[in-house]
Amino acid sequence: MNRLRTNKGTFIAIHGLRENLHYARWHNMIKRCNDPADKSYSAYGGRGIKVCDEWLSINNFVTWAENSSYRPGLSLDRIDNDGDYSPDNCRWSTHSEQMKNRRSFSRSLLTHCKRGHEYNEENTRYYNKNSNARYCNKCRLIRESRDK
Ligand SMILES: [Zn+2]
Repeated sequence: MNRLRTNKGTFIAIHGLRENLHYARWHNMIKRCNDPADKSYSAYGGRGIKVCDEWLSINNFVTWAENSSYRPGLSLDRIDNDGDYSPDNCRWSTHSEQMKNRRSFSRSLLTHCKRGHEYNEENTRYYNKNSNARYCNKCRLIRESRDK
């Protein structure tokens, strides 16, 4: 039985084939969002993207995967590229569908974030100087207060 420690200090037991099918994907998702040593951390956890509490348990993630039309070959796709890993922001899609989504869901065209806060001068933050990718400052404050 494998155990993994998450940022919340939870130990999660991994057992059975069902869990193992999704284990690598789930583990990578947790690492990208929580492990500053992960090579992708800056594009995920480093810019405020989290795994929702429910999915810190692999059992919940596997249950969601099986109830949301997972098929081998599909990958986990966040609908809002600036949103968290959570059931309401994720779906399974092919690589080409994901690329299409990235283009059509251009953050720069939106006037409001997913919670309805306006992207005005005061509320808009950029990940870095060379990027057009922005995030909602009010949502960042909500996320930070949730962590305390
Ligand atoms: Zn917001």
